[in-house]
Amino acid sequence: MHGADSESFERVLQSVGERSAARLREAPGAREAVERAVSLAAALQGAAPEPGAFARHLGGLLSRTEDPMLALERLHARDLALAFSCAQGLPAACALLEQEVLLKLRVPLSRIHPSPAFVDEVLQVLRAKLLMTRVEAPSRLLGYAGTGPLLYWVSISAVRLALRMRKALGEESQAEVLAAPGGLGFVLEEARGHVRAALIRAVASLNDVDRVLLRLHFVEKLSLERMAALFGLHKSTLSRRLSVVQALLKKRTRRALAERLSLPTGSGQPDARHPGAAGLEPLRPAGRARESCPDENTLLGYASEALDPEGTAAVHQHVVGCPECWSVLTALGGLETPLHAWQRPADA
Ligand SMILES: [Zn+2]
Repeated sequence: MHGADSESFERVLQSVGERSAARLREAPGAREAVERAVSLAAALQGAAPEPGAFARHLGGLLSRTEDPMLALERLHARDLALAFSCAQGLPAACALLEQEVLLKLRVPLSRIHPSPAFVDEVLQVLRAKLLMTRVEAPSRLLGYAGTGPLLYWVSISAVRLALRMRKALGEESQAEVLAAPGGLGFVLEEARGHVRAALIRAVASLNDVDRVLLRLHFVEKLSLERMAALFGLHKSTLSRRLSVVQALLKKRTRRALAERLSLPTGSGQPDARHPGAAGLEPLRPAGRARESCPDENTLLGYASEALDPEGTAAVHQHVVGCPECWSVLTALGGLETPLHAWQRPADA
């Protein structure tokens, strides 16, 4: 056992960078601290990460800290190992995360919105963010730095997500009421008129064959086989042609619409989700643009009093002026075992 642990210390040193490795080699207790972390990880048994990979992950993490020895002393090693195993997709680890972390979020999340369906949805999105590993977006759990309990780190993400989802829900339902017929539906009618006119112009700009193709496919609902036989084309050629014509039609409709509404067309195609992309500046609520919120590790460090005085002061100044971070920290206080170290800033 001792042999394997010493090997882990060397592995950590290899991935921690020269400067930090030299400091850790000198620091009394560093080897013991790494050995402790590794044995805490191993104690997860079925949910334990592969020791070599965990040591490299730990080394990488320490390489990004100012004081690797201090970070080691304060490390929540078991939680770090659990997060790492989950990020690797280990089923036993995911089950443990569900039981130790996600289940405990139901109560604080239900304070944000009482509907159980809402809480379920937040947790579902959160699970996807945390556990789904894709090449282009590795699990967000790899970002957990172990500066405080994993439960609180995940809570911060969960509360932020819930606040955003609740806001969207409120905005959508308000917007739906307003846009309904009899409300602001007249805007919709007018918009429809513009879209229809633009579409007519776009269809008119196509050549005869393409117009016939569209009519047979979308209006007469002819099968691709029948159409292919009719035009003496292979089915796949016809299908490709149809997609090209559709794309062309969309592009020309957008252009015609932009001209009707006197919008600059720009080079790129406007994104349907961001009408601002068609040339209008997206509208923002009045008031100064807020600087970006501290990330989960920083906020957790602040709540656990693990930041240096300078960092603490910077986060403090942000938190007292940011309702979202404020709600996040308040929700941490509402967990089953509240983070007692955190108290409402005196001047908030
Ligand atoms: Zn904030």
